[in-house]
Amino acid sequence: MSSPDIILSARKLTKRFSGFTAVNGVDLDVERGTIHALIGPNGAGKTTCFNLLTKFLQPSAGNISFNGRDITGLAPAAIARLGVVRSFQISAVFPRMSVLENVRIALQRRRGDSFDFWRNQKVLNAYDEEARERVEEVGLTEFIGETAGELSYGRKRALEIATTLALEPEMLLLDEPMAGMAQEDVSRISALIRRIAAKRTILMVEHNLSVVADLSDKITVLARGEVLAEGPYEAVSKDPRVIEAYIGA
Ligand code: ADP
Repeated sequence: MSSPDIILSARKLTKRFSGFTAVNGVDLDVERGTIHALIGPNGAGKTTCFNLLTKFLQPSAGNISFNGRDITGLAPAAIARLGVVRSFQISAVFPRMSVLENVRIALQRRRGDSFDFWRNQKVLNAYDEEARERVEEVGLTEFIGETAGELSYGRKRALEIATTLALEPEMLLLDEPMAGMAQEDVSRISALIRRIAAKRTILMVEHNLSVVADLSDKITVLARGEVLAEGPYEAVSKDPRVIEAYIGA
């Protein structure tokens, strides 16, 4: 059997906040092309871990590598340029702009063009061709001319994902993609995550365990800042230590 193709890995990742260790020696390997979920009871260290991986926090110890390259010392923007993008970090849904205009802005950011592109019809046409593809990918084509602020909550999230995809990530980190969503939107965003995962790797922190069960190839369970269990949902959900950690939380 060939060894797994690891896109993102962390070794002995540790974060201390004035004496309190929120993340304690976490090892994590995310395999390319998979949906990997980070779960655990409240206070387990999921958000801290997520912030370390996206470099919104600097680790106290340990290291992180992406595609075999050590990225521990890099800033979030540098990591995004390498292809690891955190969704909702750019939460740039401008409510008074249309869906299409929102995606255009994201493309403009990626390309680093000046805002003058609005006045150049040729550039604008090139942008729009790509923007339409992104909008289609997240299932918002029929809303392309609508004002973003008027979209339902779930569709706003889909638009946020489209703006993230405009950065052409190889890997997407999703922070609670289902938070605050109605069931109808949960199904829609689940289908969307599955669709975008066909070409990318996804690591998500998510509280909704039925979504985690439904989408994830692999799950890492954190408790008290440490990895408690790892594996497919069927295995970890039956692990007595995991059950205990959830009940005891
Ligand atoms: P989770 O996302 O799993 O609920 P967090 O990563 O938010 O867990 O928090 C893990 C632990 O670290 C908690 O006990 C929390 O109170 C603590 N913590 C998180 N951020 C800070 C901070 N900036 N300063 C001090 N303690 C923190």
